Amino acid sequence: PLILGIETSCDETGFAVVRGRELLADVTASSMEEHARYGGIVPEVASRAHLEAFVPTLDAALEAADVDLGQLDGIAVTAGPGLVGSLTVGVSGAKALALATGKPLYGVNHVIGHAAVDELVHGPFPDRFVALVVSGGHTSLLLVDDIATGVVELGQTLDDAAGEAFDKVGRLLGLPYPGGPHVDRLSREGDRDAIRFPRGLTSGKDKARHPYDFSFSGLKTAVARYVEACQDRGEEVPAADVAAGFSEAVADVLVTKSLAACERSGCDTLVIGGGFSANSRLRELAAERAAERGITVRIPPIRYCTDNGAMIAALGSALVRSGAAPSPLDLPTDSGMPLELVRV
Ligand code: ATP
Ligand code: FE
Ligand code: MG
Repeated sequence: PLILGIETSCDETGFAVVRGRELLADVTASSMEEHARYGGIVPEVASRAHLEAFVPTLDAALEAADVDLGQLDGIAVTAGPGLVGSLTVGVSGAKALALATGKPLYGVNHVIGHAAVDELVHGPFPDRFVALVVSGGHTSLLLVDDIATGVVELGQTLDDAAGEAFDKVGRLLGLPYPGGPHVDRLSREGDRDAIRFPRGLTSGKDKARHPYDFSFSGLKTAVARYVEACQDRGEEVPAADVAAGFSEAVADVLVTKSLAACERSGCDTLVIGGGFSANSRLRELAAERAAERGITVRIPPIRYCTDNGAMIAALGSALVRSGAAPSPLDLPTDSGMPLELVRV
C-alpha cells in the first residue's frame, strides 16, 4: 500500500510516503532552534510551528515521492502519546486531508512507530522480537508479535526518560541544551569505572517487582550529590568521569533489561529506536552483550530514530497490510496513549 505518514507529537513536523516497506520520501521540519533558548520545549511554540510547517512539509514530501494525494491508499497520523497541542495540529490536518480525498485515516501510536520504522531499513521483522524505545520523552520495552496488532508493554520508565536524564545531567555539568549529545561526547574522554553510580530497579525487591521497568531519577540525584560534594570541597568536578560513569549506568540498565527480556521471551532480535539510540555507549554495550548471547540488534540510522514521518507511515503501512479497520474521522488525540493501543 501507498501510505502518507504524518508526525507532529513533539517539536518535529514530519511527512513521509511509504510504499509497502519502501520509503519514497521523508521530510522533517523542526522547531528545536526556537526552543533552545528556553532550555526546553515550549508547547505553544511547537503547536504554532507545526501549523506553519504543515502544508509546506506535506508538499515537499509528496513532491519528493512524486506522488499525489489521489494515489494514496491511506493516511497515518500520530494520535498519541505527545503534547496535546502538537498532536491536535497533525490529527486535524490529517482529518482534513482524509475528508477531502476520501482516503482511510489511521491514528497510530508514536512509540510503536519508533520500532516500526526499522522495517523500512532492515526489512521484514521476525515473528517475535523485543523493542527498546528510548528518547527524550520515552523509555519503553515492548514485546512484539505483530507490529500491527500484537504489542505488549513489558516495562517503561517510572520517572525520567533516558534522554531527559542526560539533559538534566548536562545542565548539572554546565553543558548546552539539549545536553544528551554533549554528555555522550564528554563521556568518551572519561573513565567509566572511576565513579560507580546506582542502577535503578536492578536489585532486590525493586528488581522482582519491576523486572522491565526503568528509573533514572535516583541516578540523576546521585550525580547531583556527587557534583555538589565536589563543589562543597572546593574541588574541580571531574566532568568527564562523571559523564562516563553516568552513561555507563544508563546503558548498563537499558541493555541488561532488554537482553533479559529477549532471553526470557525467546526472542533472538532486539530493535532499538528513539533519539537516544544515538548514544554511543548504549550502542557499544548492546552490540557487545547481544553478540555474546547470539542476539541480533537492529538500530535504524539516526535520522529515522528521532521523530519523523517515516515511522508513522511505516506503522500505517503495517496496519493496512494486516487489514486493520481505519480510525473514525472524529478520532481523538490521546496525549497519554498506552502501548497496548497500536491505533485509535
Ligand atoms: P520523543 O520523546 O517524542 O521521541 P524527543 O524529541 O524527546 O522525542 P528525540 O528527538 O527522539 O526525543 O531524542 C532526543 C533526546 O535524546 C534528547 O533528550 C537528547 O538529549 C537525547 N540524545 C540525543 N543524542 C544523544 C546521545 N548521543 N547521547 C545521549 N542522549 C542523546
Ligand atoms: Fe519520539
Ligand atoms: Mg525531538
